[in-house]
Amino acid sequence: MSVLRNIIISLVVLLCSIYFYQVKFQAQKPVVVVVGCGLAGISAGIEAHRSGAHVIILEKTQRCAGNSFKATSGINGAYTEVQKSQNINDTVELFIQDTIKSGKGLANKQLVNVLVNKSRSAIEFLQELGVDLSVLSQCGGHSRPRTHRSRPTEKIRNIGMIIMYELLGKYEEKLEIIKEANVLDIEPNEFDNSLMVHYSYKGSVKKVGIKADSVILASGGWCADKSRDSLLKKYRPDIFSLATTNGQFATGDGVKIAKKLGINLVHMDKIQVHPTGFISPKDPLHNTKMLCPEAVRASGGIMINSKGERFANELGTRDYLTKQIFDQKDKYKKIPKDHDGESDIPYVATIIMTEESRQLFNPTFIDFYQKIGLIQYFENGEKLSEYLEIDQEKLKNTFQQYEKDAEVGKDRFGKTIFPVKKITFDENLYMMTITPSIHYAMGGIEINENAQVINEKGGIIPNIYAAGETTGGVHGDNRLAGNSLLECVVFGRISGKNSVNLLDEN
Ligand SMILES: Cc1cc2nc3c(=O)[nH]c(=O)nc-3n(C[C@H](O)[C@H](O)[C@H](O)COP(=O)(O)OP(=O)(O)OC[C@H]3O[C@@H](n4cnc5c(N)ncnc54)[C@H](O)[C@@H]3O)c2cc1C
Repeated sequence: MSVLRNIIISLVVLLCSIYFYQVKFQAQKPVVVVVGCGLAGISAGIEAHRSGAHVIILEKTQRCAGNSFKATSGINGAYTEVQKSQNINDTVELFIQDTIKSGKGLANKQLVNVLVNKSRSAIEFLQELGVDLSVLSQCGGHSRPRTHRSRPTEKIRNIGMIIMYELLGKYEEKLEIIKEANVLDIEPNEFDNSLMVHYSYKGSVKKVGIKADSVILASGGWCADKSRDSLLKKYRPDIFSLATTNGQFATGDGVKIAKKLGINLVHMDKIQVHPTGFISPKDPLHNTKMLCPEAVRASGGIMINSKGERFANELGTRDYLTKQIFDQKDKYKKIPKDHDGESDIPYVATIIMTEESRQLFNPTFIDFYQKIGLIQYFENGEKLSEYLEIDQEKLKNTFQQYEKDAEVGKDRFGKTIFPVKKITFDENLYMMTITPSIHYAMGGIEINENAQVINEKGGIIPNIYAAGETTGGVHGDNRLAGNSLLECVVFGRISGKNSVNLLDEN
């Protein structure tokens, strides 16, 4: 009897010790609060968790997605295994050059170095978490094919969705993710360098507070900020009226919170207008545009004006193409009759794809865009020119000239890469109308290579980090396609690690 009693007592003591050990261990874990659950936020959360933190991600919408979920073209990486397997001779130096050139020398070189040097490990990080990145394309402004995305699948999923689903699938259970938690401000405690993060839960006017050892701002950009204190209106009133490719949540909350904390903001007027937002013939004036992916042009889509002429290198950088489209001054012709104003009728251009480029891009996606009315199919060039109200001979000549240029490997706009070399008047064609739309905020919170935020006097603010589109400096004047998902992974991971590993240094 006494033996049994002793066993029970020992068991109770053991269980109690395990329980208290766990409570103590839990209490000892640093608390890292991440603001925003897009790719930067989840990458940060994963690394903070791996470094031993208790991670709380606060997300203001009902789902973890952000603009990351919308990404279509892919993520860049230089000197990757995928490139090597396809005999693509890329180097870190070339990628750095392309990024600096696209940013017109304004990008922070130290940040670019980190971005590019860690690009290969960023790709491997995603692959290890189950993301297929085996398809490569050469997007505008890149001197090599280095934008990685997944092979087409049965399901209509773009690369951003695939990445977010895989990462969340592996880590959602391990992180504490609070949705509908709108972060309002952060209050630093000068005595212990901790931070009180205040948020409103499910729209309540009552604030909730969490005490954090470190905070990572990963709340994205502000290309949909049409609010009363709009950052777009403040820094770029000239483009304020353009449509946007961004989700409604992109209102620059992180930047506004950072400003109140005395964090320095850089390149705030550098906003990327994407040349190709889809015009939906059903609702051509809607403020939100679905993005016509860069990969459409990288797969051989050609662009023409209202006269049926090519007018630019389709693989040029986004700012170059946007300017070329604006310079054509072609306004959308098929505006519904009841529309009375002229001013907000967008400038447009037409993109044409052949069956070969449809296959190269992703037929499932083209079918999807066709189904929702963004891409129209035409039996041949004759039918297309009728619809576009352009002279048939003009269009025929444009196609013939393109084929000649592709044969020589050079055209008068400086295009040297021709992903598709044939386009004839008799074949099936796919047509889309596009308009330049506000797309990406290059500027934002100033950070250093450790993803630490910098104050207005140039010093580091302890225990606050930032990553992703909310930060500024990585891209300079213009961002290259595929470099944003990359910055989210690279600086998200750095911020996550440092939010734990640099704690003792503060
Ligand atoms: C249509 C489209 C296609 C794109 N395609 C590509 C591409 O192919 N390759 C590429 O590199 N880049 C692409 N980009 C750019 C890239 O997707 C984004 O810049 C990047 O994903 C931003 O990631 P993020 O994590 O910084 O922000 P987001 O993914 O936008 O996430 C920010 C999150 O923070 C939340 N949030 C905001 N404020 C608060 C708050 N106050 N409290 C709590 N949560 C908050 C938001 O709700 C959101 O979920 C594309 C962008 C768009 C719009």
